Amino acid sequence: MINIGDDGTDNRPGIELAEQIPGLRTTIGRHPHSAGEPISADERRELRELAAHPSVVAVGEIGLDYHFTEYHRTPAAAQARTFRQMLGLAQEVGKPIVLHTRDAFPDLIAILDEFPGLQGVFHCFSGNSAIAAEALSRGFYISFAGTVTYPTAHGVIGAASIIPLDHMLVETDSPFLPPQSRRGTPNAPRYLIETVERIAALRGTTVAEIETATRQNAIDLFRLNHAG
Ligand SMILES: [Zn+2]
Repeated sequence: MINIGDDGTDNRPGIELAEQIPGLRTTIGRHPHSAGEPISADERRELRELAAHPSVVAVGEIGLDYHFTEYHRTPAAAQARTFRQMLGLAQEVGKPIVLHTRDAFPDLIAILDEFPGLQGVFHCFSGNSAIAAEALSRGFYISFAGTVTYPTAHGVIGAASIIPLDHMLVETDSPFLPPQSRRGTPNAPRYLIETVERIAALRGTTVAEIETATRQNAIDLFRLNHAG
């Protein structure tokens, strides 16, 4: 299981948690929602130290989010600056990236192409088959959350139906995005099964096949060993 870091409030606690729970790994992120402040030299040093920790399997969440709300108004230029800084960090520590993107896919791909050689995953995929194809052509993985169980999520459903199984991951995004039967209540990792069942049904296959493939994909992408 991989916990996700978003910013200074949970990057270090994520490592502390991973140290306590066997089999748990974590990531170091600077989410676009908190990308307004540029990364100072001191913070850069701290992020690098944290990202190099053996419990840290990826740099993320990082990315671009143009879905502006009362809570999130970080200008695009500031997001792009922080995103580039974090992509540079991922190259430096040699770890894959966990991408958060909403309504910003073309800009995100353009910046990503400035940093060749990075591997990673489009977390909580919210695009469609065409967008998935662009990500897959760059060798990236696609991760599906509870949204694939929503009857009106046509783009996501289409992508989950056809992308190659060897580049698929699943996740919860909890406490957000509970699967359809739990909408309106907080999400939790144990509800992931509903997402997996939905993907299996879409593809006319078994839950076991989706489980086996996504487990192996996570091991491959995040270079997990089972020592913990
Ligand atoms: Zn996200």
